[in-house]
Amino acid sequence: MDWQFQSAVDGVAWPAVPDYGHAAVLALLQQIEYSQWSSPASIATQQQRQLQLLLRHGWETVPFYRESWGGRYDPAAPLSMDAIERLPLLSRRSLQEHYEAMKSRSIPAAHGKASEVRTSGSTGAPVRVLKTQITGLLWNALTLRDHLWHRRDLGGKLAVIRRGSTGRAPSWGAATAGLVATGECVMHDVEADVEAQLDWLVAEKPAYLLTYPSIVAELAKASLRRGVRLPGLLEVRTLAEGLGAEVRALCREAWHVPLVDMYSAEEVGYIALQCPQYEHYHVQSESLLVEILDEGGRPCAPGQVGRVVVTDLHNFATPLVRYDIGDHAELGAPCACGRGLPVLSRIAGRVRNMLVTAEGKRFWPPLGSRRFFEVAPILQVQIAQKEFDLLEARLVAAGTVDAAQEARLREMILAAMPPGMRVVFRYCDSIPRGAGGKFEDFICEVPGAAAR
Ligand SMILES: [Zn+2]
Repeated sequence: MDWQFQSAVDGVAWPAVPDYGHAAVLALLQQIEYSQWSSPASIATQQQRQLQLLLRHGWETVPFYRESWGGRYDPAAPLSMDAIERLPLLSRRSLQEHYEAMKSRSIPAAHGKASEVRTSGSTGAPVRVLKTQITGLLWNALTLRDHLWHRRDLGGKLAVIRRGSTGRAPSWGAATAGLVATGECVMHDVEADVEAQLDWLVAEKPAYLLTYPSIVAELAKASLRRGVRLPGLLEVRTLAEGLGAEVRALCREAWHVPLVDMYSAEEVGYIALQCPQYEHYHVQSESLLVEILDEGGRPCAPGQVGRVVVTDLHNFATPLVRYDIGDHAELGAPCACGRGLPVLSRIAGRVRNMLVTAEGKRFWPPLGSRRFFEVAPILQVQIAQKEFDLLEARLVAAGTVDAAQEARLREMILAAMPPGMRVVFRYCDSIPRGAGGKFEDFICEVPGAAAR
């Protein structure tokens, strides 16, 4: 790898001498280069040193915690995982409703200026939190870790297709600007027609493409259909939606490049990044504590799926302690790569993207919409659960779908579902993306299902 660091000192080009802010990012990066190889027990010990400071700060300066932790938190007691598990979960709803009471009354000056971050609100109301310059430093160091892990050539051109991004920028973004020389960043509208997006990629010839998994699937299918290649493309990076194995396969088939996914949220930053050697994810333990909890609130064992509960270790402006972010993930076994960072083997979407039964059990329907295209002229599919036993398949079709094709589609959909479900078909001209530009291939619309 040939990264070209930028020097802040006239007359010094190599090795570069960075300015104070960039030096702090590099200092963090060097520490996390070591800590990733620490044992899980050693990482947990270091995390608890930081958690002790965070919890005391939350207790002393955040009115919301002062009230909700009463009787459950003892600032004088040594911190243990048991003590953390006694604290109540913080719901998105609470965070939305108690924005003011969640703010620290005394943000340490050394954490820098606090600024408000607002999520795109894919489940309705947005969530707001204050973040500091310290959380920004961690974000930048972890961005660089992701580039290092996947050995990216930063001199290449980055193409981005996501909500709210259009135009061109001279560098890849905040984490690299002023620190490492990068290629250009070009951005395209996520709402644009897939054919137009593909033509744009052919013309731009990027080394990297960053977008949502649903866009990768559409672009790859269009590439295969038209026989278009993207020469020069080295890697596809995805974010923001659940990722199925099908999208990785399409990416390899259409462009012969790997796909690297990341799991992040605006409120807490990077949660887990894809392992350099495997397709699962490593929790970013230097930045946050992640608990995967079962329906009873107990820690899941490897192989089990549970809710993702996050404690941001460094946000002293709106401290987020045991924040139930609204996603589900599967805990994995320790990784054979040797890193001590915990593993998430699968990250699914939100509760609203899961099928719920009358008994309150949840499933991720493993939909492979590409196979639908093989039996009928289907361009796009979204499946909505309308009742506990009723699914509505919303189809955008390029031509007529006959009864035999519908029967085959019904069979394919039901094969991925728990027994006893029914399917009705509805044909649409288009299926809109949700808030934040994310496409949801499964939505649960059963009234009151989220609360079950
Ligand atoms: Zn690994």
